[in-house]
Amino acid sequence: MQVPATEERTYRFGTLAIHAGQEPDPTTGAIMTPIYQTSTYVQEGPGIHKGHEYSRVTNPTRTALEGNLAALEGAAHAVTFASGVAAIDALCKSLRPGDHVIAVNDLYGGTFRLFKQVFEPFGLQFTFLDMRQLDDVAAAIRPETKLLWLETPTNPLLRIVDIAALSDLAHAHGIDVAVDNTFASPYLQQPLALGADLVMHSTTKYIGGHSDVIGGVVCTNDDAWTEKLRFQIKCTGASPAPMDCFLTLRGTKTLHLRMERHCENARRLAAFLDAHPKVGRVCYPGLPSDPGYAIAQRQMRDFGGMISFTLADDRIEKANQVMTSTKVFALAESLGGVESLIEHPATMTHASIPAEKRYKAGLEDSLIRLSVGVEDVDDLIEDLDRALATV
Ligand SMILES: *Cc1c(COP(=O)(O)O)cnc(C)c1O
Repeated sequence: MQVPATEERTYRFGTLAIHAGQEPDPTTGAIMTPIYQTSTYVQEGPGIHKGHEYSRVTNPTRTALEGNLAALEGAAHAVTFASGVAAIDALCKSLRPGDHVIAVNDLYGGTFRLFKQVFEPFGLQFTFLDMRQLDDVAAAIRPETKLLWLETPTNPLLRIVDIAALSDLAHAHGIDVAVDNTFASPYLQQPLALGADLVMHSTTKYIGGHSDVIGGVVCTNDDAWTEKLRFQIKCTGASPAPMDCFLTLRGTKTLHLRMERHCENARRLAAFLDAHPKVGRVCYPGLPSDPGYAIAQRQMRDFGGMISFTLADDRIEKANQVMTSTKVFALAESLGGVESLIEHPATMTHASIPAEKRYKAGLEDSLIRLSVGVEDVDDLIEDLDRALATV
């Protein structure tokens, strides 16, 4: 483990979000990092260059983004990828056949698909658990267990798992801990400071923040992991394009501002839903009655912009009726953009999870997931109120 670059540590999040990793362009003074749309770099002599040889491996726009994201997670290193799943793919390929991974059982559907359908046939082993139960995690540890895979808040049930407690448990057995921090963003939660070894993001979501770019990142203080991930990028080429790095870097400049509004709007909406007679259960860690409230208060700065809820009448048709009746909330997969989205995990984001597994994980038929945007919250409340009146 290495201590992160200390100089940037002296600045606070909002300053780092805007400045970290970037300097005015040395040739023109441009304040924004240029989109270095180039595949190769002229060398002064064989092997004598300014740090870049070929853009599959490194590109200056990407280097700026990596410096920025590392600072936001308080990490020594950030390795960016063409998508969030490409980042998870590279982590898995850094393991060996026979290695065992314990993963949270309520997780991004695409991660589950990648683990089960791509890497299990190649000899990685996976156990999926409700990681709120530390004893169950301890009992699942085997000699070949190499990694704990956490998501918190989980997707779509927004359960909170204890990063510090799981990191202590894992490290006592020589196991590394990776956290998919996409739902929280680095503004709300910094897993490395809580003991995790690796933090992964789909930068497509809150970090990019405008639903206009796909990307992923892994942040870590561990030199060996960084080397393995850079080797994967070099060998398999899941590198993000310069334009995409530029868009993501523009997104991070307002991350702290957007997150504050996402949280404020979600808090109001969760209270509204919690009191609504047509609503069954509300999953939101910011409700004091939520089972994750105490841990979330400890490990997060605020509770985030994601809410899930069921209908009192738990039927897919009723959920469809609500989702097709909203006018401000758009019916779409994904999350974390400025605009509010509504979706149905059972038939959309989590359709790749078999129904029995879904029910077992507590994911009911009428469960609706909201990505609460940064619009005027009264319009969002009225929109849902009108849609709920139709069922
Ligand atoms: C979207 C998402 C991913 C996958 O990222 P892509 O950028 O879509 O490849 C992984 N984990 C979580 C929690 C996500 O929401």
